[in-house]
Amino acid sequence: MTQTAPPKPLRADDEGKRFASLDPRTGEVVAHHPVHGEAEVRAAVAAARTAAEFWADLGFAGRRARLDAWRRTLVRRLPEWQSLLSAETGKSADDARTETALVVEHLHWAARQAAKTLGRRRVKPGALMYNHAATLEYRPLGVVGVIGPWNYPAFTPMGSIAYALAAGNAVVFKPSEFTPGVGVFLADTLAEVVPEHPVLQVVTGFGETGAALCAAGVDKLAFTGSTATGKKVMAACAATLTPVLVECGGKDALIVAEDADVPAAARAAVWGGIFNAGQTCAGVERVYVADAVHDEFVELVVAKARELRPGGEPNADFGPITMPAQVDVIRAHVADALERGGRAVVGGMESIRPPYVEPVVLVDVPEDAKAVTEETFGPTLVVNRVADADEAVRRANASAYGLGAAVFSRNRGDELAARLRCGMVSVNSVLAYASVPALPFGGVGASGFGRVHGEDGLREFAYAHSVTRKRFRALLDPMTYERGPRTIKHVLRLVKALHGR
Ligand code: NDP
Repeated sequence: MTQTAPPKPLRADDEGKRFASLDPRTGEVVAHHPVHGEAEVRAAVAAARTAAEFWADLGFAGRRARLDAWRRTLVRRLPEWQSLLSAETGKSADDARTETALVVEHLHWAARQAAKTLGRRRVKPGALMYNHAATLEYRPLGVVGVIGPWNYPAFTPMGSIAYALAAGNAVVFKPSEFTPGVGVFLADTLAEVVPEHPVLQVVTGFGETGAALCAAGVDKLAFTGSTATGKKVMAACAATLTPVLVECGGKDALIVAEDADVPAAARAAVWGGIFNAGQTCAGVERVYVADAVHDEFVELVVAKARELRPGGEPNADFGPITMPAQVDVIRAHVADALERGGRAVVGGMESIRPPYVEPVVLVDVPEDAKAVTEETFGPTLVVNRVADADEAVRRANASAYGLGAAVFSRNRGDELAARLRCGMVSVNSVLAYASVPALPFGGVGASGFGRVHGEDGLREFAYAHSVTRKRFRALLDPMTYERGPRTIKHVLRLVKALHGR
Protein backbone atom coordinates (compact mmCIF):
# COMPACT_ATOMS: atom_id res chain seq x y z
CA MET A 1 0.00 0.00 0.00
CA THR A 2 1.27 3.48 -0.82
CA GLN A 3 0.98 5.51 2.38
CA THR A 4 0.99 9.27 1.83
CA ALA A 5 0.33 12.26 4.03
CA PRO A 6 -3.31 13.28 4.29
CA PRO A 7 -4.19 16.04 1.83
CA LYS A 8 -4.45 19.59 3.06
CA PRO A 9 -7.96 20.99 3.20
CA LEU A 10 -9.22 22.72 0.07
CA ARG A 11 -8.32 26.37 0.04
CA ALA A 12 -9.74 29.25 -1.88
CA ASP A 13 -7.14 31.74 -3.03
CA ASP A 14 -6.99 34.97 -5.10
CA GLU A 15 -9.24 36.56 -2.46
CA GLY A 16 -11.71 33.73 -2.78
CA LYS A 17 -12.06 34.01 -6.58
CA ARG A 18 -10.67 30.54 -7.30
CA PHE A 19 -10.05 27.28 -5.51
CA ALA A 20 -7.98 24.16 -5.98
CA SER A 21 -9.18 20.63 -6.50
CA LEU A 22 -6.71 18.23 -4.92
CA ASP A 23 -5.67 14.65 -5.55
CA PRO A 24 -6.63 12.92 -2.28
CA ARG A 25 -3.87 10.35 -2.81
CA THR A 26 -1.08 12.92 -2.74
CA GLY A 27 -2.56 16.25 -1.74
CA GLU A 28 -1.29 17.72 -5.02
CA VAL A 29 -3.31 20.31 -6.92
CA VAL A 30 -5.17 18.82 -9.90
CA ALA A 31 -6.40 22.20 -11.19
CA HIS A 32 -7.77 25.55 -10.11
CA HIS A 33 -11.37 26.55 -10.78
CA PRO A 34 -13.31 29.79 -10.33
CA VAL A 35 -15.56 30.34 -7.32
CA HIS A 36 -18.74 31.40 -9.08
CA GLY A 37 -20.95 33.82 -7.16
CA GLU A 38 -24.59 34.72 -7.44
CA ALA A 39 -24.11 36.99 -10.49
CA GLU A 40 -22.21 34.36 -12.49
CA VAL A 41 -24.75 31.68 -11.62
CA ARG A 42 -27.61 33.93 -12.72
CA ALA A 43 -25.78 34.71 -15.97
CA ALA A 44 -25.34 30.98 -16.62
CA VAL A 45 -29.05 30.37 -16.07
CA ALA A 46 -29.90 33.28 -18.40
CA ALA A 47 -27.66 31.83 -21.15
CA ALA A 48 -29.23 28.43 -20.54
CA ARG A 49 -32.68 29.91 -21.27
CA THR A 50 -31.69 30.70 -24.86
CA ALA A 51 -29.86 27.39 -25.16
CA ALA A 52 -32.98 25.58 -23.93
CA GLU A 53 -35.08 27.02 -26.76
CA PHE A 54 -32.52 25.95 -29.37
CA TRP A 55 -32.24 22.48 -27.78
CA ALA A 56 -36.02 21.95 -27.49
CA ASP A 57 -36.44 22.99 -31.15
CA LEU A 58 -34.03 20.25 -32.26
CA GLY A 59 -36.73 17.70 -31.38
CA PHE A 60 -36.13 14.16 -30.20
CA ALA A 61 -34.28 13.01 -33.33
CA GLY A 62 -32.01 16.06 -33.43
CA ARG A 63 -31.14 15.75 -29.75
CA ARG A 64 -30.56 12.03 -30.04
CA ALA A 65 -28.04 12.62 -32.84
CA ARG A 66 -26.11 15.12 -30.68
CA LEU A 67 -26.27 12.97 -27.54
CA ASP A 68 -25.07 9.94 -29.52
CA ALA A 69 -22.17 12.03 -30.84
CA TRP A 70 -21.36 13.08 -27.26
CA ARG A 71 -21.38 9.43 -26.18
CA ARG A 72 -18.91 8.54 -28.93
CA THR A 73 -16.68 11.47 -27.89
CA LEU A 74 -16.74 10.28 -24.28
CA VAL A 75 -15.86 6.74 -25.33
CA ARG A 76 -12.97 8.00 -27.48
CA ARG A 77 -11.64 9.95 -24.52
CA LEU A 78 -12.14 7.28 -21.88
CA PRO A 79 -8.50 7.14 -20.69
CA GLU A 80 -8.36 10.92 -20.12
CA TRP A 81 -11.77 10.90 -18.42
CA GLN A 82 -10.89 7.94 -16.20
CA SER A 83 -7.59 9.40 -15.08
CA LEU A 84 -9.31 12.71 -14.21
CA LEU A 85 -11.88 10.77 -12.16
CA SER A 86 -9.07 8.99 -10.32
CA ALA A 87 -7.13 12.21 -9.80
CA GLU A 88 -10.02 14.09 -8.21
CA THR A 89 -11.49 11.25 -6.13
CA GLY A 90 -8.48 8.95 -5.68
CA LYS A 91 -10.54 6.00 -6.88
CA SER A 92 -8.74 3.01 -8.38
CA ALA A 93 -8.50 2.63 -12.15
CA ASP A 94 -11.07 -0.19 -12.14
CA ASP A 95 -13.53 1.81 -10.04
CA ALA A 96 -13.14 4.74 -12.47
CA ARG A 97 -13.58 2.41 -15.48
CA THR A 98 -16.76 0.95 -14.00
CA GLU A 99 -18.17 4.43 -13.42
CA THR A 100 -17.53 5.61 -16.99
CA ALA A 101 -18.99 2.42 -18.47
CA LEU A 102 -22.24 2.99 -16.61
CA VAL A 103 -22.45 6.65 -17.68
CA VAL A 104 -22.13 5.68 -21.34
CA GLU A 105 -24.77 2.95 -21.03
CA HIS A 106 -27.28 5.38 -19.47
CA LEU A 107 -26.56 8.15 -21.97
CA HIS A 108 -27.26 5.75 -24.82
CA TRP A 109 -30.55 4.59 -23.30
CA ALA A 110 -31.84 8.05 -22.36
CA ALA A 111 -31.16 9.44 -25.85
CA ARG A 112 -32.84 6.49 -27.56
CA GLN A 113 -35.82 6.18 -25.20
CA ALA A 114 -36.85 9.85 -24.86
CA ALA A 115 -39.11 10.03 -27.93
CA LYS A 116 -40.99 6.87 -26.96
CA THR A 117 -41.58 7.92 -23.33
CA LEU A 118 -42.14 11.63 -23.78
CA GLY A 119 -43.36 12.07 -27.36
CA ARG A 120 -46.95 12.88 -28.23
CA ARG A 121 -49.38 9.98 -28.14
CA ARG A 122 -53.13 9.43 -28.24
CA VAL A 123 -54.91 8.22 -25.15
CA LYS A 124 -58.46 6.86 -24.87
CA PRO A 125 -60.98 9.65 -24.21
CA GLY A 126 -63.40 7.43 -22.25
CA ALA A 127 -67.12 6.82 -22.75
CA LEU A 128 -68.32 10.25 -21.62
CA MET A 129 -65.98 12.10 -23.96
CA TYR A 130 -66.21 9.73 -26.94
CA ASN A 131 -66.50 12.64 -29.35
CA HIS A 132 -63.04 14.03 -28.40
CA ALA A 133 -59.54 12.99 -29.39
CA ALA A 134 -57.15 13.06 -26.41
CA THR A 135 -53.39 13.45 -26.73
CA LEU A 136 -50.59 13.58 -24.19
CA GLU A 137 -46.99 14.69 -24.49
CA TYR A 138 -44.23 15.51 -22.01
CA ARG A 139 -42.59 18.85 -22.64
CA PRO A 140 -39.20 20.00 -21.38
CA LEU A 141 -39.24 22.16 -18.26
CA GLY A 142 -36.67 24.63 -19.63
CA VAL A 143 -33.55 25.02 -17.49
CA VAL A 144 -32.65 22.31 -14.98
CA GLY A 145 -30.15 22.95 -12.18
CA VAL A 146 -28.13 19.90 -11.13
CA ILE A 147 -26.09 19.73 -7.90
CA GLY A 148 -23.87 16.68 -7.52
CA PRO A 149 -21.66 14.87 -4.99
CA TRP A 150 -18.02 13.79 -5.24
CA ASN A 151 -18.24 10.03 -4.80
CA TYR A 152 -19.42 9.33 -8.36
CA PRO A 153 -18.76 12.71 -9.95
CA ALA A 154 -19.76 11.49 -13.43
CA PHE A 155 -22.31 8.70 -12.89
CA THR A 156 -24.40 10.40 -10.24
CA PRO A 157 -24.98 13.82 -11.84
CA MET A 158 -25.33 12.22 -15.27
CA GLY A 159 -28.37 10.37 -13.91
CA SER A 160 -29.97 13.81 -14.00
CA ILE A 161 -27.97 15.57 -16.75
CA ALA A 162 -28.32 12.90 -19.48
CA TYR A 163 -32.02 12.39 -18.81
CA ALA A 164 -32.76 16.13 -18.52
CA LEU A 165 -30.96 16.80 -21.82
CA ALA A 166 -32.72 13.90 -23.56
CA ALA A 167 -36.03 15.38 -22.38
CA GLY A 168 -35.12 18.67 -24.10
CA ASN A 169 -33.84 20.85 -21.23
CA ALA A 170 -30.66 22.90 -20.90
CA VAL A 171 -28.67 22.18 -17.73
CA VAL A 172 -26.58 24.25 -15.32
CA PHE A 173 -24.47 21.88 -13.22
CA LYS A 174 -22.75 22.62 -9.91
CA PRO A 175 -20.31 19.78 -9.18
CA SER A 176 -18.90 19.07 -5.72
CA GLU A 177 -16.01 21.30 -4.68
CA PHE A 178 -13.91 18.11 -4.61
CA THR A 179 -14.59 17.15 -8.23
CA PRO A 180 -15.10 20.29 -10.34
CA GLY A 181 -12.80 19.07 -13.14
CA VAL A 182 -15.01 16.10 -13.99
CA GLY A 183 -17.96 18.48 -14.36
CA VAL A 184 -15.97 20.78 -16.66
CA PHE A 185 -14.86 17.77 -18.72
CA LEU A 186 -18.49 16.72 -19.26
CA ALA A 187 -19.54 20.23 -20.35
CA ASP A 188 -16.51 20.69 -22.63
CA THR A 189 -17.02 17.38 -24.42
CA LEU A 190 -20.71 18.11 -25.01
CA ALA A 191 -19.83 21.58 -26.34
CA GLU A 192 -17.66 19.90 -29.01
CA VAL A 193 -20.74 18.32 -30.56
CA VAL A 194 -23.20 21.11 -29.67
CA PRO A 195 -21.16 24.23 -30.46
CA GLU A 196 -24.17 26.50 -31.12
CA HIS A 197 -25.40 27.03 -27.56
CA PRO A 198 -24.23 26.08 -24.05
CA VAL A 199 -26.82 23.39 -23.34
CA LEU A 200 -24.70 22.15 -20.43
CA GLN A 201 -22.84 24.72 -18.32
CA VAL A 202 -20.84 24.16 -15.18
CA VAL A 203 -20.67 26.59 -12.26
CA THR A 204 -17.95 25.79 -9.74
CA GLY A 205 -17.38 26.73 -6.13
CA PHE A 206 -18.53 25.73 -2.67
CA GLY A 207 -21.90 25.30 -1.00
CA GLU A 208 -22.74 28.98 -1.61
CA THR A 209 -22.55 28.40 -5.37
CA GLY A 210 -25.03 25.55 -5.01
CA ALA A 211 -27.29 27.75 -2.90
CA ALA A 212 -27.11 30.46 -5.59
CA LEU A 213 -28.22 27.91 -8.20
CA CYS A 214 -31.25 27.03 -6.05
CA ALA A 215 -32.25 30.72 -6.06
CA ALA A 216 -31.42 31.48 -9.70
CA GLY A 217 -34.84 30.77 -11.20
CA VAL A 218 -34.22 27.31 -12.67
CA ASP A 219 -37.31 25.32 -13.59
CA LYS A 220 -36.27 22.30 -11.53
CA LEU A 221 -33.39 21.52 -9.19
CA ALA A 222 -32.01 17.97 -9.17
CA PHE A 223 -29.92 17.45 -6.06
CA THR A 224 -27.78 14.44 -5.15
CA GLY A 225 -25.86 14.52 -1.89
CA SER A 226 -26.34 14.15 1.83
CA THR A 227 -29.73 14.23 3.51
CA ALA A 228 -28.70 17.29 5.56
CA THR A 229 -27.86 19.34 2.46
CA GLY A 230 -30.93 17.95 0.66
CA LYS A 231 -33.13 19.56 3.32
CA LYS A 232 -31.38 22.92 2.85
CA VAL A 233 -31.79 22.70 -0.94
CA MET A 234 -35.48 21.89 -0.59
CA ALA A 235 -36.02 24.80 1.80
CA ALA A 236 -34.20 27.21 -0.54
CA CYS A 237 -36.21 26.01 -3.55
CA ALA A 238 -39.48 26.38 -1.63
CA ALA A 239 -39.03 30.16 -1.64
CA THR A 240 -39.55 30.27 -5.43
CA LEU A 241 -41.72 27.13 -5.70
CA THR A 242 -38.93 25.51 -7.71
CA PRO A 243 -39.62 21.78 -7.93
CA VAL A 244 -36.91 19.49 -6.57
CA LEU A 245 -35.60 15.98 -7.07
CA VAL A 246 -33.72 14.90 -3.95
CA GLU A 247 -31.41 11.86 -4.06
CA CYS A 248 -29.77 11.46 -0.66
CA GLY A 249 -27.82 8.98 1.37
CA GLY A 250 -28.55 5.39 2.31
CA LYS A 251 -27.82 2.65 4.82
CA ASP A 252 -28.43 -0.27 2.54
CA ALA A 253 -28.85 -3.77 3.92
CA LEU A 254 -27.88 -7.09 2.38
CA ILE A 255 -29.93 -10.06 3.59
CA VAL A 256 -28.46 -13.56 3.59
CA ALA A 257 -31.29 -16.07 3.92
CA GLU A 258 -31.03 -19.65 5.19
CA ASP A 259 -31.10 -20.99 1.61
CA ALA A 260 -28.57 -18.52 0.17
CA ASP A 261 -25.56 -19.38 -1.98
CA VAL A 262 -23.30 -18.36 0.89
CA PRO A 263 -20.00 -17.96 -1.01
CA ALA A 264 -21.75 -15.78 -3.61
CA ALA A 265 -23.34 -13.70 -0.83
CA ALA A 266 -19.96 -13.25 0.89
CA ARG A 267 -18.26 -12.13 -2.35
CA ALA A 268 -21.09 -9.66 -3.02
CA ALA A 269 -21.08 -8.29 0.53
CA VAL A 270 -17.34 -7.61 0.46
CA TRP A 271 -17.40 -5.97 -2.95
CA GLY A 272 -20.64 -4.05 -2.26
CA GLY A 273 -19.26 -2.69 1.00
CA ILE A 274 -15.70 -1.93 0.00
CA PHE A 275 -15.43 -0.97 -3.67
CA ASN A 276 -14.88 2.77 -4.19
CA ALA A 277 -13.67 2.74 -0.53
CA GLY A 278 -17.26 2.24 0.59
CA GLN A 279 -18.21 5.69 -0.69
CA THR A 280 -21.33 4.55 -2.50
CA CYS A 281 -24.80 5.85 -1.67
CA ALA A 282 -26.30 2.43 -2.37
CA GLY A 283 -23.30 0.43 -1.14
CA VAL A 284 -23.71 -2.38 1.38
CA GLU A 285 -23.42 -0.98 4.91
CA ARG A 286 -25.38 -3.56 6.94
CA VAL A 287 -25.57 -7.33 6.50
CA TYR A 288 -28.18 -9.47 8.23
CA VAL A 289 -27.37 -13.16 8.12
CA ALA A 290 -29.69 -16.03 9.07
CA ASP A 291 -28.37 -17.98 12.03
CA ALA A 292 -28.09 -21.23 10.05
CA VAL A 293 -25.46 -19.79 7.66
CA HIS A 294 -23.98 -17.01 9.79
CA ASP A 295 -20.69 -18.62 10.81
CA GLU A 296 -19.87 -19.88 7.32
CA PHE A 297 -20.69 -16.45 5.87
CA VAL A 298 -18.53 -14.54 8.37
CA GLU A 299 -15.60 -16.89 7.79
CA LEU A 300 -15.74 -16.27 4.02
CA VAL A 301 -16.15 -12.49 4.43
CA VAL A 302 -13.19 -12.32 6.80
CA ALA A 303 -10.95 -14.29 4.44
CA LYS A 304 -11.85 -12.09 1.44
CA ALA A 305 -11.79 -8.72 3.23
CA ARG A 306 -8.35 -9.48 4.72
CA GLU A 307 -6.90 -9.77 1.20
CA LEU A 308 -7.92 -6.23 0.20
CA ARG A 309 -5.68 -3.20 0.52
CA PRO A 310 -6.33 0.46 -0.29
CA GLY A 311 -3.68 2.45 -2.11
CA GLY A 312 -2.81 5.23 -4.49
CA GLU A 313 -1.53 3.04 -7.31
CA PRO A 314 -3.96 2.53 -10.21
CA ASN A 315 -4.30 -1.21 -9.60
CA ALA A 316 -4.99 -0.87 -5.86
CA ASP A 317 -8.06 -2.73 -4.62
CA PHE A 318 -9.60 0.61 -3.72
CA GLY A 319 -8.52 4.18 -3.16
CA PRO A 320 -8.47 6.71 -0.32
CA ILE A 321 -11.32 8.53 1.39
CA THR A 322 -11.96 11.43 -0.97
CA MET A 323 -13.35 13.96 1.51
CA PRO A 324 -10.97 14.33 4.46
CA ALA A 325 -13.78 15.10 6.95
CA GLN A 326 -15.41 11.72 6.20
CA VAL A 327 -12.55 9.96 7.98
CA ASP A 328 -13.82 11.42 11.29
CA VAL A 329 -17.27 9.98 10.65
CA ILE A 330 -15.83 6.52 9.91
CA ARG A 331 -13.64 6.68 13.02
CA ALA A 332 -16.60 7.73 15.21
CA HIS A 333 -18.80 4.92 13.87
CA VAL A 334 -16.18 2.19 14.40
CA ALA A 335 -15.35 3.48 17.91
CA ASP A 336 -19.02 3.67 18.87
CA ALA A 337 -19.67 0.12 17.61
CA LEU A 338 -16.72 -1.27 19.58
CA GLU A 339 -17.65 0.64 22.75
CA ARG A 340 -21.15 -0.80 22.60
CA GLY A 341 -19.97 -4.39 22.46
CA GLY A 342 -19.47 -4.93 18.73
CA ARG A 343 -16.39 -6.93 17.69
CA ALA A 344 -14.02 -6.23 14.82
CA VAL A 345 -13.23 -9.48 12.99
CA VAL A 346 -11.27 -7.65 10.29
CA GLY A 347 -9.29 -4.50 11.10
CA GLY A 348 -10.34 -2.05 13.82
CA MET A 349 -9.46 1.47 14.92
CA GLU A 350 -5.91 0.95 13.66
CA SER A 351 -7.26 0.48 10.11
CA ILE A 352 -8.04 4.20 9.91
CA ARG A 353 -4.88 5.81 8.52
CA PRO A 354 -5.90 8.90 6.56
CA PRO A 355 -6.30 9.30 3.69
CA TYR A 356 -6.70 5.51 3.60
CA VAL A 357 -9.00 3.25 5.57
CA GLU A 358 -8.35 -0.47 5.41
CA PRO A 359 -11.32 -2.87 5.46
CA VAL A 360 -13.14 -3.13 8.78
CA VAL A 361 -15.69 -5.88 9.41
CA LEU A 362 -17.74 -5.54 12.59
CA VAL A 363 -20.02 -8.23 14.05
CA ASP A 364 -22.62 -8.27 16.84
CA VAL A 365 -23.13 -4.50 16.65
CA PRO A 366 -26.17 -3.22 18.60
CA GLU A 367 -28.91 -2.00 16.31
CA ASP A 368 -28.87 1.48 17.84
CA ALA A 369 -25.13 1.99 17.20
CA LYS A 370 -24.18 4.72 14.72
CA ALA A 371 -22.61 2.11 12.44
CA VAL A 372 -26.10 0.63 12.02
CA THR A 373 -28.27 3.74 11.97
CA GLU A 374 -26.16 6.38 10.17
CA GLU A 375 -24.39 6.42 6.81
CA THR A 376 -20.71 5.51 7.41
CA PHE A 377 -19.46 5.93 3.82
CA GLY A 378 -16.25 3.97 4.38
CA PRO A 379 -14.89 0.47 3.61
CA THR A 380 -16.65 -0.98 6.63
CA LEU A 381 -19.28 -3.68 6.99
CA VAL A 382 -21.56 -4.45 9.93
CA VAL A 383 -22.56 -8.13 9.93
CA ASN A 384 -25.29 -9.05 12.41
CA ARG A 385 -26.80 -12.46 13.15
CA VAL A 386 -30.59 -12.83 12.88
CA ALA A 387 -32.86 -15.81 13.55
CA ASP A 388 -34.07 -16.01 9.96
CA ALA A 389 -34.72 -14.00 6.79
CA ASP A 390 -37.98 -12.61 8.19
CA GLU A 391 -36.16 -10.99 11.07
CA ALA A 392 -33.60 -9.70 8.56
CA VAL A 393 -36.39 -7.96 6.62
CA ARG A 394 -37.73 -6.36 9.81
CA ARG A 395 -34.28 -5.03 10.74
CA ALA A 396 -33.49 -3.89 7.23
CA ASN A 397 -36.72 -1.90 7.18
CA ALA A 398 -36.09 -0.34 10.61
CA SER A 399 -34.02 2.48 9.12
CA ALA A 400 -34.77 6.11 8.45
CA TYR A 401 -33.16 5.55 5.03
CA GLY A 402 -34.67 3.51 2.20
CA LEU A 403 -32.44 3.69 -0.85
CA GLY A 404 -31.54 0.14 -2.03
CA ALA A 405 -31.07 -3.38 -0.68
CA ALA A 406 -29.90 -6.85 -1.67
CA VAL A 407 -31.23 -10.31 -0.91
CA PHE A 408 -29.45 -13.63 -1.25
CA SER A 409 -31.87 -16.56 -1.31
CA ARG A 410 -32.31 -19.50 -3.69
CA ASN A 411 -36.10 -19.74 -3.34
CA ARG A 412 -37.46 -16.67 -1.56
CA GLY A 413 -35.65 -13.83 -3.35
CA ASP A 414 -38.68 -12.20 -4.98
CA GLU A 415 -40.85 -12.59 -1.90
CA LEU A 416 -38.26 -11.03 0.42
CA ALA A 417 -37.50 -8.26 -2.10
CA ALA A 418 -41.18 -7.33 -2.24
CA ARG A 419 -41.24 -6.78 1.53
CA LEU A 420 -38.32 -4.35 1.62
CA ARG A 421 -39.16 -0.67 2.08
CA CYS A 422 -36.74 0.93 -0.37
CA GLY A 423 -36.46 2.07 -3.96
CA MET A 424 -34.41 -0.76 -5.47
CA VAL A 425 -33.50 -4.36 -4.62
CA SER A 426 -31.01 -6.78 -6.21
CA VAL A 427 -31.69 -10.49 -5.73
CA ASN A 428 -28.58 -12.70 -5.64
CA SER A 429 -26.32 -9.75 -6.56
CA VAL A 430 -25.58 -6.24 -5.35
CA LEU A 431 -26.32 -2.93 -7.04
CA ALA A 432 -27.39 -4.63 -10.28
CA TYR A 433 -30.34 -2.23 -10.69
CA ALA A 434 -27.96 0.74 -11.16
CA SER A 435 -26.69 -0.83 -14.39
CA VAL A 436 -30.15 -1.34 -15.88
CA PRO A 437 -31.03 1.99 -17.53
CA ALA A 438 -34.73 1.14 -17.78
CA LEU A 439 -35.00 0.84 -13.99
CA PRO A 440 -35.74 3.98 -11.98
CA PHE A 441 -33.20 4.79 -9.25
CA GLY A 442 -34.10 6.61 -6.02
CA GLY A 443 -35.23 6.09 -2.48
CA VAL A 444 -37.85 6.70 0.16
CA GLY A 445 -37.71 8.30 3.61
CA ALA A 446 -34.42 10.01 4.47
CA SER A 447 -32.99 8.79 1.13
CA GLY A 448 -35.12 11.39 -0.64
CA PHE A 449 -37.70 11.27 -3.40
CA GLY A 450 -38.08 11.45 -7.14
CA ARG A 451 -36.30 9.18 -9.57
CA VAL A 452 -33.37 9.29 -11.96
CA HIS A 453 -32.97 6.65 -14.72
CA GLY A 454 -35.70 4.81 -16.57
CA GLU A 455 -38.91 6.28 -17.93
CA ASP A 456 -39.64 7.87 -14.53
CA GLY A 457 -36.21 9.54 -14.77
CA LEU A 458 -37.12 11.07 -18.13
CA ARG A 459 -40.50 12.27 -16.89
CA GLU A 460 -38.81 13.94 -13.87
CA PHE A 461 -37.51 16.53 -16.32
CA ALA A 462 -40.70 17.16 -18.24
CA TYR A 463 -44.24 18.25 -17.61
CA ALA A 464 -47.34 16.53 -18.90
CA HIS A 465 -49.19 18.52 -21.54
CA SER A 466 -52.69 17.21 -22.19
CA VAL A 467 -54.91 18.24 -25.10
CA THR A 468 -58.44 17.26 -26.10
CA ARG A 469 -59.83 18.04 -29.54
CA LYS A 470 -63.57 17.90 -30.16
CA ARG A 471 -64.15 15.85 -33.29
CA PHE A 472 -67.93 16.12 -33.62
CA ARG A 473 -70.94 17.33 -31.69
CA ALA A 474 -72.17 14.84 -29.13
CA LEU A 475 -75.79 13.88 -28.70
CA LEU A 476 -75.49 14.84 -25.04
CA ASP A 477 -73.32 17.85 -24.22
CA PRO A 478 -73.42 18.66 -20.49
CA MET A 479 -70.79 21.37 -20.83
CA THR A 480 -73.01 24.17 -22.13
CA TYR A 481 -75.92 26.07 -20.56
CA GLU A 482 -78.10 24.68 -23.31
CA ARG A 483 -77.82 21.23 -21.75
CA GLY A 484 -81.20 21.22 -19.93
CA PRO A 485 -82.27 18.72 -17.24
CA ARG A 486 -82.72 15.87 -19.73
CA THR A 487 -79.05 15.91 -20.71
CA ILE A 488 -77.85 15.71 -17.10
CA LYS A 489 -80.36 12.92 -16.41
CA HIS A 490 -79.06 10.93 -19.39
CA VAL A 491 -75.44 11.48 -18.36
CA LEU A 492 -76.19 10.25 -14.84
CA ARG A 493 -78.02 7.21 -16.22
CA LEU A 494 -74.98 6.44 -18.35
CA VAL A 495 -72.63 6.82 -15.35
CA LYS A 496 -74.80 4.50 -13.25
CA ALA A 497 -74.89 1.91 -16.03
CA LEU A 498 -71.15 2.10 -16.60
CA HIS A 499 -69.82 2.42 -13.06
CA GLY A 500 -72.60 1.62 -10.60
CA ARG A 501 -72.47 -2.14 -10.73
P1 NDP B 1 -23.12 17.12 0.27
O1 NDP B 1 -24.55 17.12 0.68
O2 NDP B 1 -22.11 17.62 1.22
O3 NDP B 1 -22.92 17.98 -1.06
C1 NDP B 1 -23.64 17.68 -2.25
C2 NDP B 1 -23.58 18.90 -3.15
O4 NDP B 1 -24.35 19.97 -2.56
C3 NDP B 1 -22.18 19.45 -3.37
O5 NDP B 1 -22.06 19.88 -4.70
C4 NDP B 1 -22.14 20.61 -2.41
O6 NDP B 1 -21.20 21.59 -2.75
C5 NDP B 1 -23.55 21.14 -2.54
N1 NDP B 1 -23.98 22.01 -1.44
C6 NDP B 1 -23.46 22.13 -0.20
N2 NDP B 1 -24.17 23.02 0.53
C7 NDP B 1 -25.17 23.47 -0.28
C8 NDP B 1 -26.24 24.40 -0.11
N3 NDP B 1 -26.45 25.03 1.04
N4 NDP B 1 -27.07 24.61 -1.14
C9 NDP B 1 -26.90 23.96 -2.32
N5 NDP B 1 -25.90 23.07 -2.54
C10 NDP B 1 -25.04 22.83 -1.53
O7 NDP B 1 -22.82 15.62 -0.19
P2 NDP B 1 -21.43 15.00 -0.62
O8 NDP B 1 -20.88 15.75 -1.77
O9 NDP B 1 -20.62 14.81 0.60
O10 NDP B 1 -21.87 13.57 -1.20
C11 NDP B 1 -22.03 12.43 -0.43
C12 NDP B 1 -23.50 12.18 -0.16
O11 NDP B 1 -24.18 12.00 -1.38
C13 NDP B 1 -23.72 10.90 0.62
O12 NDP B 1 -24.68 11.11 1.61
C14 NDP B 1 -24.26 9.94 -0.44
O13 NDP B 1 -25.03 8.89 0.08
C15 NDP B 1 -25.03 10.87 -1.30
N6 NDP B 1 -25.26 10.28 -2.62
C16 NDP B 1 -26.52 9.89 -2.97
C17 NDP B 1 -26.76 9.28 -4.18
C18 NDP B 1 -28.14 8.89 -4.58
O14 NDP B 1 -28.37 8.69 -5.78
N7 NDP B 1 -29.11 8.75 -3.69
C19 NDP B 1 -25.67 9.00 -5.12
C20 NDP B 1 -24.38 9.45 -4.66
C21 NDP B 1 -24.20 10.08 -3.46
P3 NDP B 1 -19.73 21.53 -2.12
O15 NDP B 1 -19.18 20.16 -2.38
O16 NDP B 1 -19.02 22.56 -2.87
O17 NDP B 1 -19.90 21.80 -0.65
